Amino acid sequence: MERRCPLQAAWGSRLIAPSRGTRVHWELLRAERAWFISTAALEEKPFHFRAVIDSGLVRLPEHWDLAKGVSASGCATLLDKHGLRSIRVRGRIEASALCDCDLCLKQVRHDFDADFELHFYPMEMIDSGGEAAISRAETEVGFYEGDGVALPDVIREQLLLWFPVRNLCGPGCKGLCQICGSDRNVDPCTCRPRFEDPRWDALRQLSLKR
Ligand SMILES: [Zn+2]
Ligand SMILES: [Zn+2]
Repeated sequence: MERRCPLQAAWGSRLIAPSRGTRVHWELLRAERAWFISTAALEEKPFHFRAVIDSGLVRLPEHWDLAKGVSASGCATLLDKHGLRSIRVRGRIEASALCDCDLCLKQVRHDFDADFELHFYPMEMIDSGGEAAISRAETEVGFYEGDGVALPDVIREQLLLWFPVRNLCGPGCKGLCQICGSDRNVDPCTCRPRFEDPRWDALRQLSLKR
């Protein structure tokens, strides 16, 4: 039984033939394609969007997950059509992200609901040293390769900017005990970390050799 997905031609040979198990995969690809912001289309008119983007489309770094789909609304515009050709995307993102606390490993939920504005410049600019022409704050800037940028990637870029550098369940998290492994926020154990004075290292090695 051979089925041929119409997307296969569009996406080229890097895709494997579909089977029953890859159905979800194809649906994601179809959605991914629907949310692609191409510079060719932007030449004609701005790209308006209002959607809930499937969490599977937003590829977050390891340890981060999305609790649900991401609500995004806004507009993408091609700026400076005959010069830098940057894509400006602005709008609003509502998302809930999950990540384990850096110290106690408890899952922490971060809710975001805010306006954003990002600018994407063609990747070729970097090769030609043109990035010096970019005057915006570095944090608002991304780069696109080829024909444009996918909305899920735009969302990813913005979420990365919003994610905390240190992910803690609270400012006073006591973390895990390094000796018995208990969560010191709920089970304050009596383990005492052994303090070893590094100045005795040389002496210890001497006594071992004996
Ligand atoms: Zn914690
Ligand atoms: Zn302990």
